Amino acid sequence: MGGHVSSASVEGVHVVVVGGGFGGIAAAQQLKSLGLSFTLIDLRDAFHHNVAALRASVQPGFAQRTFIPYAETFGDSFVQGRVERVDTDRQTVVLQGGREIQFSHLILCTGTDGPFPGKFNTMASYQTAVQTYEDFIKQVQAADSVLVVGGGSTGVEMAAEIKTEYPDKKVVLVHSRVGLADTELLPSVRQQVKEVLLEKGVELLLGQKVSNLSELQLNVTQKNMEVSTDKGETLTTDLIICCTGLKVNSAAYASSLSGSLAEGGALKVNQHLQVDGFSNIYAVGDCADVKEPKMAYHAGLHAAVAVSNIWNSLNGKELTTYQTGNVTMLLAMGRDDGVGQFNGFKLPRFLVALGKSRDLLLWKSWREMKQTQP
Ligand SMILES: Cc1cc2nc3c(=O)[nH]c(=O)nc-3n(C[C@H](O)[C@H](O)[C@H](O)COP(=O)(O)OP(=O)(O)OC[C@H]3O[C@@H](n4cnc5c(N)ncnc54)[C@H](O)[C@@H]3O)c2cc1C
Repeated sequence: MGGHVSSASVEGVHVVVVGGGFGGIAAAQQLKSLGLSFTLIDLRDAFHHNVAALRASVQPGFAQRTFIPYAETFGDSFVQGRVERVDTDRQTVVLQGGREIQFSHLILCTGTDGPFPGKFNTMASYQTAVQTYEDFIKQVQAADSVLVVGGGSTGVEMAAEIKTEYPDKKVVLVHSRVGLADTELLPSVRQQVKEVLLEKGVELLLGQKVSNLSELQLNVTQKNMEVSTDKGETLTTDLIICCTGLKVNSAAYASSLSGSLAEGGALKVNQHLQVDGFSNIYAVGDCADVKEPKMAYHAGLHAAVAVSNIWNSLNGKELTTYQTGNVTMLLAMGRDDGVGQFNGFKLPRFLVALGKSRDLLLWKSWREMKQTQP
């Protein structure tokens, strides 16, 4: 990017960014540095670095580092609210309560929701959000045994965080499949996930599902709750944490862009990340239907492509193309260990621990938001 766009083409340009997750803050920051007029909308007042949410669930005082207020970075270009509808004819987004914001270009990055503590999807203030994690730590501390449901990337990280911070607690991880973590990871990396968990003393129940989950209370410590699995095992536990069931947040656009929806609610996009059928609407991050693991890292890459393409289209230049690379994924297995792969190659554990697990890449987002970490 660079050069100068003529004032004639910037006139009337206003980019609306819906969702201030990893994709949204990257897009907004780049629009800001290009001097383009924009509005960033999120239902909360602070960015949630949910990659670090599991550490915030076990380590007191950590949660305040995982929320970054928007207004300090974006000023009046940030609007708090829930987008309920996109009017493509009138080029406006409609917020809960009726407020409308006009756009010339729209970047949709509404991401995914899932269960707490991996995600925090309530409309709460910064203080309440931080306090919710601090309160949850007290539940973890009060439990002698914890059951983590789901052995995808979130579940394995959750189990490792608890066992690392509280080695005396009994931690059981139940997973419906035999292989742990993301299916896109190298088999040797997935095997190493299992080794680390066993080394730490996490007990594994693989190839089994909890059959009475809907009857059980999550995230609250109650001594000796009875849990049964579909393979006939029963166990007792004091605390149950669910790490399954991520779902694309499509409510903002599902009715208006119904013709562009892929299975699961993500938006079909072309190689320029333009939403199917629209040249001025882009989808970025988890809500873009791109065949690759849903990752914060990818959301940032998508945002750069979308903003470049808005800039290029204003300047009459050719559009940039998004290309998926080989999988790079780092799993923090507690603050002292990690497993992962870079560009398709397995990494040594100490490197992942050093590069990812200690700080969970919080510094990157604080730097991107140009604020100082507390
Ligand atoms: C526990 C956990 C650990 C993870 N670890 C990693 C990791 O180590 N590395 C990695 O690359 N990825 C990781 N991921 C995946 C990563 O979190 C997601 O891929 C990433 O958050 C996607 O970014 P996004 O911008 O698309 O959406 P999100 O981060 O989900 O943000 C979406 C935003 O949109 C807002 N929003 C939604 N709907 C509306 C609406 N209607 N109106 C207004 N605002 C709305 C939400 O409030 C939210 O702030 C992890 C995920 C989990 C759950």
